[in-house]
Formats: sequence, structure tokens, C-alpha cells
Amino acid sequence: MSKLRGLLWAGMVAGLGVAAAAGLPRLARHVPWGVERWLGTFGASGAEAGVCSASAPATASLQRVLRRLYPLATDDRNVDIDVQVIRGDTVNAYATLGGHIFVFDGLLQEARTPEELAGVLAHEIEHVRQRHIVQGAVVALATWGGLRAVFGGSGNGVARTLLSLSFSREQEAEADEQGLQRLRAAQVDAAGFAHFFERGAQSAALPALLSSHPSDPQRAERAAHFRGYPTRPVLAPEEWAALRGICGSDHARR
Ligand SMILES: [Zn+2]
Repeated sequence: MSKLRGLLWAGMVAGLGVAAAAGLPRLARHVPWGVERWLGTFGASGAEAGVCSASAPATASLQRVLRRLYPLATDDRNVDIDVQVIRGDTVNAYATLGGHIFVFDGLLQEARTPEELAGVLAHEIEHVRQRHIVQGAVVALATWGGLRAVFGGSGNGVARTLLSLSFSREQEAEADEQGLQRLRAAQVDAAGFAHFFERGAQSAALPALLSSHPSDPQRAERAAHFRGYPTRPVLAPEEWAALRGICGSDHARR
């Protein structure tokens, strides 16, 4: 009798665990922005050590790209977005809790136009705005791997956990679709978005970008719907040149 009761209890606890795990991402979407921002203060320090700001014109150009994309809609004010370039050859960009977007210098050097950078940023902004970051973080931190990363003593465990977050196919599609709409609203040519991710899918040089933002055959198809609207350049050539030098003078690899 007591054995049966024990089994019933075990079954109930397991069932609750599964229900909680399945419901976590949905719940996380409703975490107040202030709480996400506060959680974000724990992970930001690691990346800040490598932030580039070689010159005032470079920093101004970066802010100019961001201001072109955010804020646009009134509900953009529900989140805060900032962007920084950090040292490292990795061709990648990622967003952390609290709306901090980090772009590796490697991505900046790989991008051929400011429109390509804007395409990646629009996608990242949507991961934040759609609350994918907090959803991923809550799930990651609820697992043993996440806990170990946080308390592992390395200092920037949270940052690394977030860097290794992987998004679902649905989340990627949502970030693409909303990001493309953002580009159109900002009159930024979406061809930059398409070219950058297409090159990534064809080239072995961009594995990092694809591991955190997996490509799928529908990406090009989605981008193809965003054509034929009026566009304006994101940056003047000299502003783009200044931005690509934001990590210092030894950036000129191409
Ligand atoms: Zn993504």
C-alpha cells in the first residue's frame, strides 16, 4: 500500500516537473522587463572587458546604425537595446539578458556593407523584443549545466551560458520575420540581411553564426518577400570605414 502511494507520489512529482519544464518558456515570456534587466547585470561584465571604442567617429557610427533600427514602434519602449562591438575574430553577434547586444569584431570585418550589419542587428533586436533571450536563459539556468556554468567560478559563466543558448526553429523564424519588417520600416535594404546569411550558409567561415542562428532553407524565401520598398543608405562610406576600425588600427584585413 505504502509502495503504491510512493509510486503515485513519484509519478505526480515527475508529471509536475515535465509540466513545469514545458511551461517555463511560456512563463518566461511574461517576466517583467525590469527583472530581465536586473538579471542581465550578472552577465554583462565578462563581455565589457573586451568592448571596443577606438575613436569617437567609430562609436558615433555604431550608434547611428542602432538608432536607425531602434526605437521605431511605440512598443519598442517596452525593452531597452544597446549595442557594443567586442574583440574577437568570431563571426557572430549575440544578445544577452537586458537587451545588450554584442557584435564580435570578426562579424564587423566579414560584413561587406552597413546594411549587412543592420540585418544582423535587426534579427538580434527581435530576439530581445520577442523575449527569446529570457526564455532561453530560464530554461538553461533550470538545468544542471546552466547551474554549473553560473556557479563554476569563472566569473562570466552567465555570459557563456547565454552565448551558447540555442534558439528553436520557430524563434529563428520569428526573429527573421520581425527583423525583416523592422528593416522595411527603417527603409534599410533587406538585401543586406539576405546576403549575409546566405553567404554564411555557403561558407565554412561562418560556423559560429550558424550554430547560434541556424540557417534554414526558408530564410532566403522569407527575405525574398521584402523587396521593392524605398531605401536609404545606413551609413556614408567614411562612417562605415570608421565603424570597421572601432577595435583599433590593425583591423584592416581586407
Ligand atoms: Zn537568431
